Amino acid sequence: MDKLSITNLSKTYDNGVKALDAISLEISKGMFGLLGPNGAGKSTLMRTLATLQEPDEGTVTLGSYNVLRQKDDVRTILGYLPQQFGLYPRVSAETLLNHLAVLKGITHKKERKEIVKALLQKTNLYDVRRQNLGGFSGGMKQRFGIAQALLNNPKLLIVDEPTAGLDPAERNRFYNLLSELGENTVVILSTHIVDDVKELCTDMAIINKGKVLKKGNPLKLIAQLEGKVYQKTIQKNELATYKRLYNVISVKFFQGEPIIHIICDEHPNNDFISIKADLEHVYFSQIHYNSQLT
Ligand code: ADP
Repeated sequence: MDKLSITNLSKTYDNGVKALDAISLEISKGMFGLLGPNGAGKSTLMRTLATLQEPDEGTVTLGSYNVLRQKDDVRTILGYLPQQFGLYPRVSAETLLNHLAVLKGITHKKERKEIVKALLQKTNLYDVRRQNLGGFSGGMKQRFGIAQALLNNPKLLIVDEPTAGLDPAERNRFYNLLSELGENTVVILSTHIVDDVKELCTDMAIINKGKVLKKGNPLKLIAQLEGKVYQKTIQKNELATYKRLYNVISVKFFQGEPIIHIICDEHPNNDFISIKADLEHVYFSQIHYNSQLT
């Protein structure tokens, strides 16, 4: 039942932008991270999976459901937290959640009350349930977003860039909530934050320009690069030369000096030092930001 299969999904917008270019992915139960820069096509994919947008081509199945054809059936087992969602600022969390539960078809009053209470507790909002949503912090709003997405006990939960704008403590609390959910659900988390994926996800894909560039378990992808990442602090005016000579995957400035990271099968000598591979290196080796940095 629980596997999501995406096959050859393509979408070109009217302005000619190819947001999805033959995307194929198999996603099992657990936390799946969809990582890519802004404009990669993540939201387009999320909205398509959430039955809110039509692709030009391709198929999506969730267990025995044809997601693109059986939209109404899929919506009963789908939870979606969009990048931006509106809240009624003058309504309390409890009132709005109760109201949304009615809209989702939970009509039995006693059952609804229990579900709403359980979700407020689960998302750690029970103590503030009578406060108006307008006074909630970013993290509290996101947790409310998860509470509403869970009302129908979804088999597929789609969460689009959920940690944008959260402070580290809020982000942590939100992470903990999400990882609990991954046990029984397919959870797809889209983000451009590499650490979100490393900390949370057991499976991931890096996408850019509508294409899947890499897929796998984050720790295994890191292991593939182990022993191949090197670092060196150089002078600004040497950058172009180094980029010509080495496979520079990223440039970071530390106190005004560029530190370059390169990938190389053997030790490049020339004062490079070997460093531990990380998911960021996997990401940068796929998304060649360095071509923009001169
Ligand atoms: P991401 O979520 O990874 O930032 P999006 O799916 O939002 O990526 O966008 C992918 C590409 O499609 C971008 O180039 C974006 O400008 C373009 N795009 C997204 N939505 C629309 C739309 N409704 N009309 C035209 N172009 C769009």
